Amino acid sequence: MKDLKKELQERKANHLYRSRRINDSPQQPEMVIDGRKVISFCSNDYLGLANHPEVKAAFIKGIEQYGAGSGAAHLINGHSRAHHGLEQELADFTGYPRALLFSTGYMANLGVIQALIGKGDTILQDRLNHASLLDAGLLCGARLMRYAHNSANDLDAKLASRTSGEKLVATDGVFSMDGDIADTTALVSSCKRHDAWFMLDDAHGFGVLGKNGKGTLEHTNTSVDNVPVYMATLGKALGTSGAFIAGSEDLVETVIQKARTWIYTTASPPAVAEATRTSLRIINSQPQLRDSLNDNIAYFRQCCEQQNITLMQSTTAIQPVITGETETAVNMSNALFEQGILITAIRPQTVPEGSARLRITLSAAHTREHIDKLVNAISAMQKMLSS
Ligand SMILES: *Cc1c(COP(=O)(O)O)cnc(C)c1O
Repeated sequence: MKDLKKELQERKANHLYRSRRINDSPQQPEMVIDGRKVISFCSNDYLGLANHPEVKAAFIKGIEQYGAGSGAAHLINGHSRAHHGLEQELADFTGYPRALLFSTGYMANLGVIQALIGKGDTILQDRLNHASLLDAGLLCGARLMRYAHNSANDLDAKLASRTSGEKLVATDGVFSMDGDIADTTALVSSCKRHDAWFMLDDAHGFGVLGKNGKGTLEHTNTSVDNVPVYMATLGKALGTSGAFIAGSEDLVETVIQKARTWIYTTASPPAVAEATRTSLRIINSQPQLRDSLNDNIAYFRQCCEQQNITLMQSTTAIQPVITGETETAVNMSNALFEQGILITAIRPQTVPEGSARLRITLSAAHTREHIDKLVNAISAMQKMLSS
């Protein structure tokens, strides 16, 4: 048996030891974490819906109607009118014929990929795809190939090298650690040339990108007809929990028959579906939330430019500050916490070696005062580090 204590100590020595902070407040910019008042810049609650009064009221009403838990898997007796209504509303909103709920995004990716491909097939993935897509690729038994980040040229060459079996190309819509957006137009053409499935994971685009919040496809003017498998999560911009896939009638029926992470798990509580239906209504009817988020992104980038803080190309709510060294990222994150600012350090294996970062995320709920405090604190710290 290996020595776990020794392994853990090595992790600590390499600044790779992960641990949790404890939160005592609702998910919102001003929080109480480990007993300290902080402004949080690491949530995926991009529109401030996690603690929205209408979403909470719908959740409570859902509990009164359906109770706390769903009691069983969707195919047994856990599929409620609330789940069914939400699936129809998600299909209408995204423009696909059907949508299907999963309990988490991780499970949605594992399930849909395993339902579509297996041994003898090939899955091609962007190098910077989310861990759940990579794991889905490993688990499904198909050959896994990774193409250079957002490179349709590299994808094209790799697709051309596969002459038999099904091919499935999967990409993040908004890359979760960098904040840049997939070049869907070029990726779609490449898939068409090689008769490959194209799957988009829009965890960070759904609800926030595009004029109507429909996500990366709306933002990049891509027709849903060109994207046979769409997946998005509900625990980020929608502020609740869960995920869904959307696609054709036949795709959804296939996933219902075959996806093990959908079949063999308890349906999420119906009340969560009721809360999510309210979130979706707010996303549909209140474009001003997206305007506030975009104003905050522009303001943050402008302040950073004035203070010589180097950012990546991102135009989305994900705005990383690269520190390179893992130790620097961890020390900066800890020092910021002492000053009342919460940003987690993202380190390898989550990002490539040498690209540790502070992953800042902005929300429509942040004020300019919050952003001023953040930028001033980072600027002071960078000056101290370089002097
Ligand atoms: C968060 C995330 C997931 C996983 O979704 P969960 O609902 O949190 O399990 C999948 N893909 C991407 C790109 C994500 O950012």
